[in-house]
Amino acid sequence: TGTFTYEFDTPAYKGTSTIHTGLFINGQWVDPVQGGTIDVVNPAKGSIITSVAGGTKEDVDIAVQAAQKAYKSSWGYKVPGAQRGKLLSKLADLIEQHSAEIGALEALNTGKIYSKALGEIGSVVSVIRYYAGWADKVQGKTIETREDKFAYTRHEPYGVVGQIIPWNFPLGMFSWKIGPALATGNVIVLKPSELTPLSALRVCDLINEAGFPPGVVNVVNGYGNTVGQSIAEHPNISKVAFTGSTLVGRKILKAAAETNLKVVTLELGGKSPTVIFDDADLQKAIQWAAFGIFFNMGQVCTAGSRIFVQETIYDTFLEHFTKAAEHLASKTGDPFGTDSEHGPQVSQTQFERVMGYIDAGKKAGATVHVGGERHGEEGYFIKPTIFTNTTPDMKIVQEEIFGPVAAVIKFKDEEDAIAKANDTVYGLACNIFTQNVSRAIKVAHALEAGSAWVNCANTAEPGVPFGGYKQSGNGRELGEYAIDTYTQVKAVHINLN
Ligand code: NAD
Repeated sequence: TGTFTYEFDTPAYKGTSTIHTGLFINGQWVDPVQGGTIDVVNPAKGSIITSVAGGTKEDVDIAVQAAQKAYKSSWGYKVPGAQRGKLLSKLADLIEQHSAEIGALEALNTGKIYSKALGEIGSVVSVIRYYAGWADKVQGKTIETREDKFAYTRHEPYGVVGQIIPWNFPLGMFSWKIGPALATGNVIVLKPSELTPLSALRVCDLINEAGFPPGVVNVVNGYGNTVGQSIAEHPNISKVAFTGSTLVGRKILKAAAETNLKVVTLELGGKSPTVIFDDADLQKAIQWAAFGIFFNMGQVCTAGSRIFVQETIYDTFLEHFTKAAEHLASKTGDPFGTDSEHGPQVSQTQFERVMGYIDAGKKAGATVHVGGERHGEEGYFIKPTIFTNTTPDMKIVQEEIFGPVAAVIKFKDEEDAIAKANDTVYGLACNIFTQNVSRAIKVAHALEAGSAWVNCANTAEPGVPFGGYKQSGNGRELGEYAIDTYTQVKAVHINLN
């Protein structure tokens, strides 16, 4: 198996990074059985960075066997929670120590702005550290029944869990997955997105350095229809946690239903509403609304892509929101430029997909108020785009674009805002801007979404649950709630007679 070294000589970061490009199975770097490779592309240039191993079903089988062995011999209840927590803590420290380098890999591979990539790595450290703290605090209950019986519950790990993650926050999603799974004593077969494997590959070396027993974490890079599908179908994987599109989420559920009925948790797409009332602090609402849709070039599952503005302030909002989009457009550039604030979409495919939606919006009769075109000649850059004059049935209002494209829509009053905001098959998040506390709470409760952000947007916290209503998924990540999704409850009845 090979290694790959990259020299970063950029204004924002100078340094060298070396990663292994193989599959990480049983604590070792191995070649895929069929010898497949996958090219990894720099989206700011459209050029190939390197190629990494791409696995198949055979590699998933080998990884599952390694994980099963580790589960029986050196993990799960064989290892006290405190010991698991110590290793997670060590991993968090190691990632923190290497965050400048890992952030650079993340920015190189995804095109996100380097300073934002550093922010992501910071949150990775927080999430893993948070779950390190949980590892020795997972406990059951004793339940009073009658004098001649002692009943208690035990929260047991599933054993081998499969985890499949997307490319928008490659290491962020990695941490949301491995943190609660390892804290609760599960062993892992994880597949990164084939587009963005670099940061996870770097962290595998740190997993070894932290001292995790071999086979506890296995990372099998590969395509969705091979490695991903094999994980979803595997008879010896008891639970799958998936983050990605609703389309693929359906396939995972179907594969689970047709094989061993493994437990499936899904974090899927969104079309989240931002609702701005005329009693909001408008300047702040504009900044948050811009962050809500344009952060990470709109490639955020909770992106506030439908912006509903009360008709009394619509014109003022639009004028200032347009300036925010134009400002961002003027700061479009290389992810490692110290002045850059807006980078490229992650891939040619995503670029074409987003441009396709922009075209569909125009053809349907919506107005491109600003943006609506590519930036520059090289890479996959798209200007921050605002649509007006949309109707509720348009594709750009109903479907997840996953790019820097907002629709700004008028509403009349609270009731109208709630009806319009809930007119979607998705239910991941909502953002509400008002200075009226009762209105904020009332609307937060009325909107059908797993997260309601009041006077803010896109702000996850390690301790606060995250997940979807409706077709945005099921189960929760982060917080104590994620602990529940990685354990199954055993009830023990002891007859005292
Ligand atoms: P995607 O569904 O195409 O891919 C996600 C992962 O699934 C990748 O690793 C991919 O290789 C794998 N995959 C593809 N086909 C598969 C199959 N048949 N079986 C098993 N695995 C398969 O999504 P994407 O384009 O990588 O990411 C964008 C999507 O992810 C958006 O819809 C976004 O909303 C969603 N997302 C959701 C959250 C959340 O927490 N709800 C977070 C980030 C992204």
